[in-house]
Amino acid sequence: MSIAQNLLKIKSTLPENVTLVAVSKTKPIPDLMEAYDAGQRIFGENKIQEMAEKWEAMPKDIEWHMIGHVQTNKVKFMGPFVNLIHGVDSSKLLAEINKQAKKNNRIIDCLLQIHIAEEETKFGLDEMELNEILTSKAFEEMKNIRIVGLMGMATFTDNQNQIKKEFTHLKLIFDKLKPLNTNNCQLNTISMGMSGDYKLAIECGSTMVRIGSSIFGGR
Ligand SMILES: *Cc1c(COP(=O)(O)O)cnc(C)c1O
Repeated sequence: MSIAQNLLKIKSTLPENVTLVAVSKTKPIPDLMEAYDAGQRIFGENKIQEMAEKWEAMPKDIEWHMIGHVQTNKVKFMGPFVNLIHGVDSSKLLAEINKQAKKNNRIIDCLLQIHIAEEETKFGLDEMELNEILTSKAFEEMKNIRIVGLMGMATFTDNQNQIKKEFTHLKLIFDKLKPLNTNNCQLNTISMGMSGDYKLAIECGSTMVRIGSSIFGGR
């Protein structure tokens, strides 16, 4: 099947409240354009340099999401255009995003990444660190960012029960925090689910899925 066919097929199965991020990392611009021409307007990349190059080359009505781990010293390269940063996992990084957003006269939406997997290698905050950030004075003063939700990645395993447990855990944290409604924190998004586990993620409450290989083919 073509990229356009893959995309439309997946889109037709998603509930209305679930947003599709087409993860185009490592893929060439003609591949992205095929998805664009089929109607896709949200693309996810995991390297800032690559995302910036694609942003420059492609139509300007695209929303660019940074889904990878972000190094503080590279935030400036996406400050002018990034629409959502999924993997925010420290107050230091938040402070830098706030600084770059201010420089560009923007408010940048962010998701806080929560560590839900068993693997140590995956990035993310635990619940205590999350609460520390959200209740800190420093955070309150960051006027150029908005936390709009949480992001998580499940363990890489075939064990559906374990994945389900991890997604459910993220949903639970989200539900607990949702009432917290401040100027720069209004939670409405749970980013969880990739090609292999997005159906399960949606069953567990995901509102944003990040799908790459099932649309663009293997990498
Ligand atoms: C690559 C990537 C995806 C997409 O993975 P697929 O298995 O190709 O769908 C989703 N989220 C993150 C954070 C990624 O790095």
